[in-house]
Amino acid sequence: MSHTAELIAVGTELLLGNIANTDAQMISEGLSQLGINVYYHTVVGDNPERVRQAVDIARHRADILITTGGLGPTCDDLTKVAIAQAFGKELVYHEPSAQRIRDRFAAMERPVTENNFQQAMLPEGCTVLDNDWGTAPGVAFEAESTHVIMLPGPPKECEMMFRHRAVPYLKALSDGVIASRTVKTFGIGESAAEALLRDLMNSLQNPTLAPYAKPTGTELRITAHAQTEAEAFALIAPVEAQVKEILGDKVIGVDVGSLEEVCYALLKEKGLTVGTAESCTGGLIAKLITDLPGSSALFRGGIVSYTNEVKAGVLGVPQDMLDQYGAVSPQVAEAMARGAKAALGCDIALSTTGVAGPDPDDRGNPIGLVYLGLAYQDQCYVTEFHAGKVARERIRRQSAQTALDLLRRYLTGLL
Ligand code: ATP
Ligand code: MG
Repeated sequence: MSHTAELIAVGTELLLGNIANTDAQMISEGLSQLGINVYYHTVVGDNPERVRQAVDIARHRADILITTGGLGPTCDDLTKVAIAQAFGKELVYHEPSAQRIRDRFAAMERPVTENNFQQAMLPEGCTVLDNDWGTAPGVAFEAESTHVIMLPGPPKECEMMFRHRAVPYLKALSDGVIASRTVKTFGIGESAAEALLRDLMNSLQNPTLAPYAKPTGTELRITAHAQTEAEAFALIAPVEAQVKEILGDKVIGVDVGSLEEVCYALLKEKGLTVGTAESCTGGLIAKLITDLPGSSALFRGGIVSYTNEVKAGVLGVPQDMLDQYGAVSPQVAEAMARGAKAALGCDIALSTTGVAGPDPDDRGNPIGLVYLGLAYQDQCYVTEFHAGKVARERIRRQSAQTALDLLRRYLTGLL
């Protein structure tokens, strides 16, 4: 049987716009991976009557209710009271949870104030979800054919409690297992991917195939339901192969991290180093690579050559080339990459030069035109990339990612 879950976020600060409902985003994503439908999110303030009303509406639309927030020790933390009332349950003192609270405060060498023990008042007969990441225990119970799960609000705590406590509880509700694999792509939009995959998607029931647009690229999630994990993955395998065949070299990997992580793994595997010469991306490629721990082993350095003086003086781009073709040209992209490779002593150098806007450059090059270079040994590839007339930030981000994709293509023999 497939389940439907509804999320109720409790917190006046969410309604005031002080914070965004990131807990709901995290939980929804996790539920979709479990194959659990989510049709509604509700946000309600710290008001017991309105929380009860939200619960009364939600329990008729879903068989799983997940609340976030309001489990703490202060008087606005009223979620448990409201939920217990809605389901006609008493709150009872749970000594093991009280002891965990004492132990936690002792470990922090802080005195426990009496209000903390409110957190050990839990609905009678519930499953206690021990909180190893904070003080308030979570709660799960089944009443009147509804499963209720209450999780704390602070995002880190909520995430750990969801992954390590709620997910195992939810998995036990369904017969069999749900498994999924995510095919990641770069350089193809969601609608274009869907158009290519529509026939395949429509022909499938188990597994299912669904596209997701992410800022870093389109993802295709294949989800299967079976008695065992091995059977689920066996159902996924042929569909995964078909998706890869249809999308070809746009696929950067399956169940992989970001494009930079893919490049990092390939560089490491091949024992190669990289460096950058960036103009319009202003160091963004270097940032993306150096965000990864351990990148010092393979990232030699980067030069942000924003002016022609630096392109000529530091990277050795010939002045007459700059005069003749202008900084935004394939010739200069190539000279920058070759110059960076020599200056930085790396195996591969990436370069970017283009028009990030908001105005065209003085030679009339359009906004969003970017040349990307990749120098290796004594060779150099240059590609022309059109980000289009979009926001400056987007042009820069897409250019940096496209340069990384060029690196991925080189490292996988696609160039
Ligand atoms: P605490 O023990 O910290 O009081 P709690 O379970 O009672 O936790 P709240 O008091 O509702 O949770 O919220 C604690 C903090 O968690 C809030 O200040 C807010 O920053 C964050 N928070 C609460 N709900 C959400 C949410 N849905 N999304 C993101 N952050 C949230
Ligand atoms: Mg609180």
